[in-house]
Amino acid sequence: MPFECPIGCPADCCYFDSEEQMPTVFHEEVLRLKEEASRRGVELSFRELGEFNGVKIYRWIVRGWCPFFDKKSRKCTIHDKKPLACKMFPLILDLNTGNIYLSENCIWVKQNGPRPLDDFPHEKNALMKVVVRLKLARP
Ligand code: SF4
Ligand code: SF4
Repeated sequence: MPFECPIGCPADCCYFDSEEQMPTVFHEEVLRLKEEASRRGVELSFRELGEFNGVKIYRWIVRGWCPFFDKKSRKCTIHDKKPLACKMFPLILDLNTGNIYLSENCIWVKQNGPRPLDDFPHEKNALMKVVVRLKLARP
């Protein structure tokens, strides 16, 4: 059964109460998110995490609901522009071990249990972009 966010999902994935859940983003994504936020009069905050294989990565510091989440429609309002970390969710890449796992913060995962990577074609595609960008694999 391929992964698909159920309509009306409470979208716990867009609510953050611990730093480890917050998205890890690339420099150009920081710029893009800031641009989107400034259009909406919102300020965003990022913390540099350092370099991974020479690529700078940042933690998007977002507490509570993401400012781009629309609580009424329960949808992301920057779907095409959201960072790869959001596009690949519920797939998570552990930068310390290189392991890929499924987030337990996703309701679909909670309901359907462990599933093969091929059940997440779009998310896997985003994950591969991250893997290539971090030089963990060749394109
Ligand atoms: S950018 Fe979109 S998908 Fe990512 S946390 Fe915010 S609302 Fe959710
Ligand atoms: S990724 Fe998971 S928690 Fe987030 S909206 Fe989709 S099904 Fe819901």
